[in-house]
Amino acid sequence: MNAVEKLDNLVKLYHEERLAHVYLLETNNISLAFKDLITTIKKINCPNEYAEKCDKCNICNLINQEALPSLIIVNADGNNIKKEQVLDLKRRFSFKPIYTPNNIYIINNAEKLNGASANTMLKFIEEPGENIIGFLLTTNLNNVIPTIKSRCEICSLIYNIEENKEDNPYYAVALEYIKAIELAKDDKIMYNRNIILNKYSERNDIEAIFKEILNIYLRLSVLQDEELNLKLDSLAINKRINLLITFLEDIATNANVELLMDKFIIELSDSKNESI
Ligand SMILES: [Zn+2]
Repeated sequence: MNAVEKLDNLVKLYHEERLAHVYLLETNNISLAFKDLITTIKKINCPNEYAEKCDKCNICNLINQEALPSLIIVNADGNNIKKEQVLDLKRRFSFKPIYTPNNIYIINNAEKLNGASANTMLKFIEEPGENIIGFLLTTNLNNVIPTIKSRCEICSLIYNIEENKEDNPYYAVALEYIKAIELAKDDKIMYNRNIILNKYSERNDIEAIFKEILNIYLRLSVLQDEELNLKLDSLAINKRINLLITFLEDIATNANVELLMDKFIIELSDSKNESI
């Protein structure tokens, strides 16, 4: 089973009332896994079962805005997840869930639970209270404290990064595009036309090109590409991966392709400015 199939299986288990209380999800791509996990949570809670990628219902909208009271996402505060963050989670989930049948939490980079926060988390996992489901995400199971690991259901979400780049007819244009937009000082939007739209106008072609662009960044997140020779840190690469995932979700709807491409470039430039 691939990562998405494994997560869909959790949806199935949920409906069969066989879902465990806490899952520890190991993945080779935490941004993709997080994104897919959010979709899983929508599938579990959406009154339309997230059919046709529901973005209309109240629940899905609240999840998109990170404003659903019964979903808490814990990210590390610097290098650690702090005890206060776990205590806050515990306190907020001592109340009955609002809008959904369960309170659900996600802990990103569970390996950053250590010392006091790990002990607090451990107690919370052992005595979670009613109607609480937890997902811990990590890129390395071995770095998660064994006492926590042993109390979780473990599931690995491995994403295949396509290696046969020479076989992909879109590889050259994808590479040219990345080089241009990463090295340009300003006016990156023109590369949408100069490199892609002048040659390709079909939605399917453009979608395939952007999938290949995503593939190249995914590869970069694992190993540096000598052909590209870009000095991007993992935070910068993850920002691009997230923008590309959003782009590919949007292009699957009927949104205007050129506008989406311009939006991609503008948001990429904004994220570049932030990181400098
Ligand atoms: Zn929905």
